Amino acid sequence: MTTAFYSHTDCHLHDMGAGHPECPQRLDAINDHVRAIGLDIALDFRDAPNATLEQIERAHTANYVLQLREFMEQVQAEGQPRSLDPDTVVCPGTWNAALRSAGAAVAATDDVLAGRASNAFCSVRPPGHHATRSETMGFCFFNNVAIAARHALDVHGLKRVAIIDFDVHHGNGTEDIIAGDERVLMASFFQHPLYPYSGAVPKGTNMVNVPIPPYTRGGEIRDIIEAMWMPRLEEFKPQMVFISAGFDAHREDDLGQLGLVEADYEWITQRLFALAARHSQGRIVSCLEGGYALSSLSRSVAAHLRVLAGLD
Ligand SMILES: [Zn+2]
Repeated sequence: MTTAFYSHTDCHLHDMGAGHPECPQRLDAINDHVRAIGLDIALDFRDAPNATLEQIERAHTANYVLQLREFMEQVQAEGQPRSLDPDTVVCPGTWNAALRSAGAAVAATDDVLAGRASNAFCSVRPPGHHATRSETMGFCFFNNVAIAARHALDVHGLKRVAIIDFDVHHGNGTEDIIAGDERVLMASFFQHPLYPYSGAVPKGTNMVNVPIPPYTRGGEIRDIIEAMWMPRLEEFKPQMVFISAGFDAHREDDLGQLGLVEADYEWITQRLFALAARHSQGRIVSCLEGGYALSSLSRSVAAHLRVLAGLD
Protein backbone atom coordinates (compact mmCIF):
# COMPACT_ATOMS: atom_id res chain seq x y z
CA MET A 1 0.00 0.00 0.00
CA THR A 2 1.09 3.57 -0.64
CA THR A 3 0.46 6.63 1.48
CA ALA A 4 0.87 9.76 -0.61
CA PHE A 5 2.27 12.79 1.20
CA TYR A 6 1.30 15.94 -0.65
CA SER A 7 2.92 19.30 -0.06
CA HIS A 8 4.55 22.15 -1.98
CA THR A 9 7.24 24.74 -1.34
CA ASP A 10 4.72 27.48 -2.27
CA CYS A 11 2.90 26.65 0.98
CA HIS A 12 5.87 28.23 2.81
CA LEU A 13 5.45 31.55 0.99
CA HIS A 14 2.28 32.45 2.86
CA ASP A 15 3.56 34.27 5.94
CA MET A 16 1.22 36.20 8.22
CA GLY A 17 4.02 37.89 10.15
CA ALA A 18 6.33 37.35 13.12
CA GLY A 19 4.64 35.65 16.04
CA HIS A 20 1.62 34.44 14.09
CA PRO A 21 0.95 30.83 15.16
CA GLU A 22 -0.07 29.72 11.64
CA CYS A 23 3.49 29.96 10.38
CA PRO A 24 5.57 28.30 7.64
CA GLN A 25 7.69 26.56 10.30
CA ARG A 26 4.76 24.24 10.97
CA LEU A 27 5.43 22.41 7.72
CA ASP A 28 9.18 22.34 8.38
CA ALA A 29 8.58 20.78 11.80
CA ILE A 30 6.48 18.03 10.23
CA ASN A 31 9.01 17.41 7.46
CA ASP A 32 11.98 17.34 9.82
CA HIS A 33 10.33 14.98 12.30
CA VAL A 34 9.04 12.58 9.66
CA ARG A 35 12.59 12.25 8.32
CA ALA A 36 14.26 12.15 11.73
CA ILE A 37 12.23 9.11 12.78
CA GLY A 38 12.64 7.37 9.42
CA LEU A 39 8.97 7.55 8.54
CA ASP A 40 9.79 9.10 5.16
CA ILE A 41 10.60 5.69 3.67
CA ALA A 42 6.97 4.67 4.21
CA LEU A 43 5.59 7.71 2.35
CA ASP A 44 5.41 8.72 -1.28
CA PHE A 45 6.17 12.46 -1.52
CA ARG A 46 4.24 14.29 -4.21
CA ASP A 47 4.11 17.94 -5.28
CA ALA A 48 0.72 19.60 -5.04
CA PRO A 49 -0.63 21.10 -8.26
CA ASN A 50 -2.63 24.34 -8.25
CA ALA A 51 -6.36 23.91 -7.80
CA THR A 52 -8.39 25.36 -10.65
CA LEU A 53 -11.02 28.00 -10.01
CA GLU A 54 -13.65 25.53 -11.23
CA GLN A 55 -12.59 23.09 -8.51
CA ILE A 56 -12.60 25.82 -5.83
CA GLU A 57 -16.04 27.03 -6.89
CA ARG A 58 -17.56 23.67 -6.01
CA ALA A 59 -17.31 24.86 -2.40
CA HIS A 60 -17.16 28.66 -2.68
CA THR A 61 -19.20 31.27 -4.49
CA ALA A 62 -17.71 32.61 -7.72
CA ASN A 63 -18.09 36.12 -6.32
CA TYR A 64 -16.03 35.26 -3.22
CA VAL A 65 -13.26 33.71 -5.30
CA LEU A 66 -13.19 36.75 -7.60
CA GLN A 67 -13.06 39.25 -4.73
CA LEU A 68 -10.36 37.30 -2.94
CA ARG A 69 -8.32 37.07 -6.11
CA GLU A 70 -8.59 40.81 -6.73
CA PHE A 71 -7.59 41.54 -3.12
CA MET A 72 -4.61 39.20 -3.41
CA GLU A 73 -3.56 40.79 -6.72
CA GLN A 74 -3.55 44.21 -5.01
CA VAL A 75 -1.36 42.80 -2.23
CA GLN A 76 0.99 41.27 -4.79
CA ALA A 77 1.19 44.60 -6.64
CA GLU A 78 1.89 46.53 -3.43
CA GLY A 79 4.28 43.90 -2.07
CA GLN A 80 2.96 44.49 1.44
CA PRO A 81 0.78 42.24 3.66
CA ARG A 82 -2.78 43.34 4.41
CA SER A 83 -5.27 41.99 6.96
CA LEU A 84 -8.55 40.51 5.83
CA ASP A 85 -9.79 39.91 9.36
CA PRO A 86 -8.10 40.22 12.78
CA ASP A 87 -6.56 36.72 12.45
CA THR A 88 -6.05 36.39 8.73
CA VAL A 89 -3.40 38.24 6.78
CA VAL A 90 -2.78 38.19 3.04
CA CYS A 91 0.81 38.48 1.86
CA PRO A 92 2.18 38.32 -1.71
CA GLY A 93 2.66 34.53 -1.47
CA THR A 94 -0.81 33.75 -0.12
CA TRP A 95 -2.63 33.18 -3.40
CA ASN A 96 -0.19 30.55 -4.65
CA ALA A 97 -0.09 28.81 -1.26
CA ALA A 98 -3.89 28.68 -1.13
CA LEU A 99 -4.08 27.25 -4.67
CA ARG A 100 -1.50 24.58 -3.77
CA SER A 101 -3.33 23.65 -0.55
CA ALA A 102 -6.64 23.13 -2.29
CA GLY A 103 -4.84 21.51 -5.23
CA ALA A 104 -3.19 18.99 -2.91
CA ALA A 105 -6.55 17.89 -1.57
CA VAL A 106 -7.99 17.51 -5.07
CA ALA A 107 -4.94 15.66 -6.45
CA ALA A 108 -4.89 13.37 -3.41
CA THR A 109 -8.55 12.58 -4.05
CA ASP A 110 -7.83 11.78 -7.70
CA ASP A 111 -4.89 9.56 -6.73
CA VAL A 112 -6.79 7.61 -4.10
CA LEU A 113 -9.81 7.10 -6.35
CA ALA A 114 -7.59 6.01 -9.25
CA GLY A 115 -5.64 3.58 -7.06
CA ARG A 116 -2.40 5.56 -7.39
CA ALA A 117 -2.35 5.74 -3.58
CA SER A 118 -4.15 3.81 -0.85
CA ASN A 119 -4.62 6.98 1.15
CA ALA A 120 -3.06 10.43 1.37
CA PHE A 121 -2.03 13.18 3.75
CA CYS A 122 -1.83 16.80 2.61
CA SER A 123 0.81 18.66 4.61
CA VAL A 124 -0.32 22.06 3.48
CA ARG A 125 -1.16 25.55 4.62
CA PRO A 126 -3.15 27.76 4.69
CA PRO A 127 -5.65 25.48 6.41
CA GLY A 128 -9.27 25.50 5.31
CA HIS A 129 -12.00 24.47 7.71
CA HIS A 130 -13.03 27.99 8.86
CA ALA A 131 -13.43 29.28 5.30
CA THR A 132 -17.15 29.47 4.56
CA ARG A 133 -18.77 29.57 1.14
CA SER A 134 -18.21 33.31 0.94
CA GLU A 135 -15.92 34.36 3.80
CA THR A 136 -12.28 34.16 4.81
CA MET A 137 -11.95 33.35 8.50
CA GLY A 138 -9.55 32.10 11.14
CA PHE A 139 -6.36 31.67 9.05
CA CYS A 140 -8.38 30.01 6.23
CA PHE A 141 -9.02 31.09 2.62
CA PHE A 142 -10.18 28.05 0.65
CA ASN A 143 -11.86 25.11 2.34
CA ASN A 144 -9.51 22.38 1.15
CA VAL A 145 -11.47 19.45 2.54
CA ALA A 146 -14.85 20.67 1.30
CA ILE A 147 -13.39 21.30 -2.17
CA ALA A 148 -11.96 17.76 -2.23
CA ALA A 149 -15.20 16.20 -0.97
CA ARG A 150 -17.22 17.99 -3.64
CA HIS A 151 -14.66 16.90 -6.24
CA ALA A 152 -15.19 13.27 -5.21
CA LEU A 153 -18.97 13.70 -5.42
CA ASP A 154 -19.39 15.94 -8.45
CA VAL A 155 -16.50 14.80 -10.65
CA HIS A 156 -15.97 11.18 -9.63
CA GLY A 157 -19.64 10.51 -9.00
CA LEU A 158 -19.41 9.12 -5.48
CA LYS A 159 -22.74 9.05 -3.65
CA ARG A 160 -21.64 9.28 -0.01
CA VAL A 161 -18.52 10.72 1.62
CA ALA A 162 -17.69 11.41 5.25
CA ILE A 163 -15.82 14.44 6.56
CA ILE A 164 -14.23 13.98 9.98
CA ASP A 165 -12.93 17.05 11.79
CA PHE A 166 -10.87 16.56 14.96
CA ASP A 167 -9.37 20.05 15.12
CA VAL A 168 -9.92 21.72 18.52
CA HIS A 169 -11.94 24.47 16.80
CA HIS A 170 -15.35 23.94 15.23
CA GLY A 171 -15.12 23.59 11.45
CA ASN A 172 -17.74 26.24 10.86
CA GLY A 173 -16.71 26.84 7.26
CA THR A 174 -17.10 23.20 6.30
CA GLU A 175 -20.45 23.10 8.06
CA ASP A 176 -21.55 26.23 6.19
CA ILE A 177 -20.65 24.60 2.87
CA ILE A 178 -21.98 21.08 3.38
CA ALA A 179 -24.90 21.40 5.85
CA GLY A 180 -27.93 20.07 4.02
CA ASP A 181 -25.86 18.21 1.40
CA GLU A 182 -27.07 14.74 2.31
CA ARG A 183 -24.29 13.14 0.25
CA VAL A 184 -21.93 14.16 3.05
CA LEU A 185 -21.92 13.17 6.72
CA MET A 186 -19.70 15.44 8.81
CA ALA A 187 -18.61 14.24 12.23
CA SER A 188 -16.65 16.55 14.48
CA PHE A 189 -15.77 17.32 18.03
CA PHE A 190 -14.48 20.66 19.19
CA GLN A 191 -13.82 22.53 22.37
CA HIS A 192 -16.80 24.65 23.33
CA PRO A 193 -16.90 27.48 24.07
CA LEU A 194 -13.92 28.41 21.91
CA TYR A 195 -13.37 30.27 18.62
CA PRO A 196 -15.44 30.47 16.40
CA TYR A 197 -18.11 29.89 19.11
CA SER A 198 -20.39 27.97 16.74
CA GLY A 199 -21.40 24.35 16.32
CA ALA A 200 -23.36 23.67 19.51
CA VAL A 201 -26.53 23.69 17.41
CA PRO A 202 -25.84 21.83 14.13
CA LYS A 203 -26.95 23.53 10.90
CA GLY A 204 -28.14 20.31 9.25
CA THR A 205 -29.16 16.73 9.92
CA ASN A 206 -26.00 15.59 8.14
CA MET A 207 -23.84 17.12 10.91
CA VAL A 208 -22.70 15.19 13.99
CA ASN A 209 -21.40 18.03 16.15
CA VAL A 210 -19.98 17.19 19.56
CA PRO A 211 -19.06 20.22 21.69
CA ILE A 212 -16.59 19.30 24.44
CA PRO A 213 -15.78 21.32 27.56
CA PRO A 214 -12.22 22.57 28.15
CA TYR A 215 -9.82 20.25 29.99
CA THR A 216 -11.44 17.04 28.71
CA ARG A 217 -8.80 14.30 28.36
CA GLY A 218 -8.22 11.76 25.62
CA GLY A 219 -9.96 8.81 27.28
CA GLU A 220 -13.23 10.68 27.56
CA ILE A 221 -12.93 11.92 23.98
CA ARG A 222 -12.41 8.33 22.78
CA ASP A 223 -15.61 7.31 24.57
CA ILE A 224 -17.45 10.22 22.93
CA ILE A 225 -16.20 9.21 19.46
CA GLU A 226 -17.25 5.62 20.05
CA ALA A 227 -20.72 6.64 21.21
CA MET A 228 -21.48 9.67 19.04
CA TRP A 229 -19.54 9.33 15.78
CA MET A 230 -19.06 5.69 15.00
CA PRO A 231 -22.68 4.47 14.91
CA ARG A 232 -23.65 7.28 12.51
CA LEU A 233 -20.61 6.68 10.33
CA GLU A 234 -21.15 2.91 10.23
CA GLU A 235 -24.78 3.44 9.26
CA PHE A 236 -23.83 6.00 6.58
CA LYS A 237 -21.26 3.67 4.94
CA PRO A 238 -19.14 6.40 3.32
CA GLN A 239 -17.47 5.53 0.03
CA MET A 240 -14.56 7.79 0.97
CA VAL A 241 -13.34 9.41 4.19
CA PHE A 242 -11.95 12.95 4.34
CA ILE A 243 -10.23 14.18 7.46
CA SER A 244 -9.78 17.76 8.62
CA ALA A 245 -6.73 16.83 10.63
CA GLY A 246 -6.07 19.58 13.15
CA PHE A 247 -3.72 18.73 15.98
CA ASP A 248 -4.44 21.69 18.25
CA ALA A 249 -6.49 19.57 20.67
CA HIS A 250 -3.11 18.29 21.90
CA ARG A 251 -2.49 19.11 25.55
CA GLU A 252 0.71 20.99 24.65
CA ASP A 253 -1.12 23.31 22.24
CA ASP A 254 -2.02 26.68 23.74
CA LEU A 255 -4.73 27.55 21.22
CA GLY A 256 -7.07 25.11 22.94
CA GLN A 257 -7.47 23.47 26.32
CA LEU A 258 -8.19 19.85 25.43
CA GLY A 259 -5.95 17.02 26.55
CA LEU A 260 -5.20 14.77 23.59
CA VAL A 261 -1.77 13.17 23.19
CA GLU A 262 -0.16 11.32 20.27
CA ALA A 263 -1.67 7.99 21.36
CA ASP A 264 -5.13 9.51 21.05
CA TYR A 265 -4.46 10.66 17.47
CA GLU A 266 -3.16 7.18 16.73
CA TRP A 267 -6.36 5.67 18.18
CA ILE A 268 -8.67 8.03 16.28
CA THR A 269 -6.83 7.33 13.02
CA GLN A 270 -7.06 3.58 13.65
CA ARG A 271 -10.83 3.87 14.13
CA LEU A 272 -11.17 5.84 10.88
CA PHE A 273 -8.79 3.49 9.06
CA ALA A 274 -10.94 0.53 10.09
CA LEU A 275 -14.12 2.38 9.07
CA ALA A 276 -12.62 3.14 5.65
CA ALA A 277 -11.46 -0.47 5.28
CA ARG A 278 -15.01 -1.71 5.91
CA HIS A 279 -16.93 0.71 3.72
CA SER A 280 -14.61 2.82 1.56
CA GLN A 281 -12.00 0.44 0.11
CA GLY A 282 -9.60 2.11 2.55
CA ARG A 283 -9.92 5.47 0.78
CA ILE A 284 -8.83 8.31 3.10
CA VAL A 285 -7.67 11.82 2.25
CA SER A 286 -6.46 13.74 5.28
CA CYS A 287 -5.66 17.46 5.21
CA LEU A 288 -3.72 19.40 7.80
CA GLU A 289 -5.76 22.04 9.61
CA GLY A 290 -4.52 23.45 12.95
CA GLY A 291 -1.72 22.45 15.31
CA TYR A 292 0.55 25.23 16.50
CA ALA A 293 2.91 23.80 19.13
CA LEU A 294 5.58 22.65 16.71
CA SER A 295 6.84 19.65 18.68
CA SER A 296 3.44 18.17 19.51
CA LEU A 297 2.22 18.97 15.98
CA SER A 298 5.03 17.00 14.35
CA ARG A 299 4.75 14.07 16.78
CA SER A 300 0.98 13.91 16.33
CA VAL A 301 1.17 14.05 12.53
CA ALA A 302 3.71 11.21 12.69
CA ALA A 303 1.32 9.13 14.83
CA HIS A 304 -1.45 9.82 12.29
CA LEU A 305 0.82 8.94 9.34
CA ARG A 306 2.08 5.71 10.90
CA VAL A 307 -1.50 4.42 10.98
CA LEU A 308 -2.26 5.62 7.43
CA ALA A 309 0.91 3.89 6.22
CA GLY A 310 -0.14 0.65 7.92
CA LEU A 311 2.68 0.67 10.46
CA ASP A 312 0.50 0.87 13.61
ZN1 LIG B 1 -7.88 24.75 15.11
